[in-house]
Amino acid sequence: MVLVGPPGAGKGTQADALSARLDIPHISTGELFRAHIGAATELGRKVKKYLDEGHLVPDEITNQMLVERLDDADTVDGFLLDGFPRNVGQADVLSKVLAESDKKLDAVVQLQVDDEVVVGRLLARGRADDNEDVIRNRQRVYRAETAPLLDYYRDILVTVDGVGEVDEITNRVLSALRDRT
Ligand code: ADP
Repeated sequence: MVLVGPPGAGKGTQADALSARLDIPHISTGELFRAHIGAATELGRKVKKYLDEGHLVPDEITNQMLVERLDDADTVDGFLLDGFPRNVGQADVLSKVLAESDKKLDAVVQLQVDDEVVVGRLLARGRADDNEDVIRNRQRVYRAETAPLLDYYRDILVTVDGVGEVDEITNRVLSALRDRT
């Protein structure tokens, strides 16, 4: 499955909780990039400026890193993607790669929260790319590039209210997944 939502919607937090409850790995492209930057790998050096500015890392780099990660043995029984796909081109690549191994997405879960809540949460978190200008950039990128995925995935989209206690939201997601027809 895939989790989508604007920056600060709580995707990372919910992905951790859901991955534990569903016993599938949590794959976050943002975290993979930050690990590369932290370890000063060549890929890390290439992508740092995009993260610092709140722009998307170019698709060639992102897609290759993700496709390699999906090759790992721990993904055979399922996986939860957080922060990928982030545009329609990435979604097309994902569909193709999954089809090659006779797999498909079960669900795309949208965490819904409004901009006011989100900016407050991000400023409180204080990650390197959590200053107001960069946050605004990431919100613009979300609206322009990522929000079209909600229509792309309309047939398997599950929308959940992302405001509330962490546990409460996890339970909302799990029951929304169970209630699908
Ligand atoms: P948030 O959801 O708060 O924006 P993430 O950790 O998901 O945080 O992403 C942080 C940054 O990593 C993004 O602003 C972008 O630069 C980069 N990034 C993450 N995932 C992708 C992706 N699928 N495609 C391109 N860039 C990405």
